[in-house]
Amino acid sequence: MAFELPPLTYPASALEPTIDAKTMEIHHDKHHAAYVNNLNNAIKGHADLESKSAVDLIKNLSAVPEAIRTAVRNNAGGHVNHTLFWTLLIPGGSKAPTGKLADEIKAKFGSFDDFKATFEDAGVKRFGSGWVWLVKKGGSLDIISTPNQDNPVMAEYGAIPIFGNDVWEHAYYLNYQNRRPDYLKAWWNVLNWDEVARQYEQA
Ligand code: MN
Repeated sequence: MAFELPPLTYPASALEPTIDAKTMEIHHDKHHAAYVNNLNNAIKGHADLESKSAVDLIKNLSAVPEAIRTAVRNNAGGHVNHTLFWTLLIPGGSKAPTGKLADEIKAKFGSFDDFKATFEDAGVKRFGSGWVWLVKKGGSLDIISTPNQDNPVMAEYGAIPIFGNDVWEHAYYLNYQNRRPDYLKAWWNVLNWDEVARQYEQA
């Protein structure tokens, strides 16, 4: 069973003005689609890999033959990361954490504003392309960044993603050009904290 591009469940224009429709269209229809196609091509003929989920593939990359390991890492990683990303941005959710998650963020990072500043800083400092994440690691919240399409569930990070922001230039360049810090700051406007809470409960 080949992997498939999940449809966006909201119009590409729904996140304007924070993220413009053109960026969403290219990001979803071209970039994410390419990760899915490249993943399917990489594992073609490997029945044992084709029967796994994308998350299972990246959790245990040592089970992937070396000849296709990098392709699986990048493209299954890209598929997992973007599938989560679209979900996190479903319009209309809460604008801030509540309950246990809010308490834990405050206990770990000082305040919601301090938390946001630390997250933005980690995203600004990710050199080149990658992601910045709130994760659960060893029972505690943490902020990490990963290069390329790496995901926190990969063995060397050993963490569970709660939410992440994409800091590849393709995620923001049409609107923000070189101003990644402005993108990171504006992005909070479109993050759905109800969806974040769901991920937190699962983590
Ligand atoms: Mn992306």
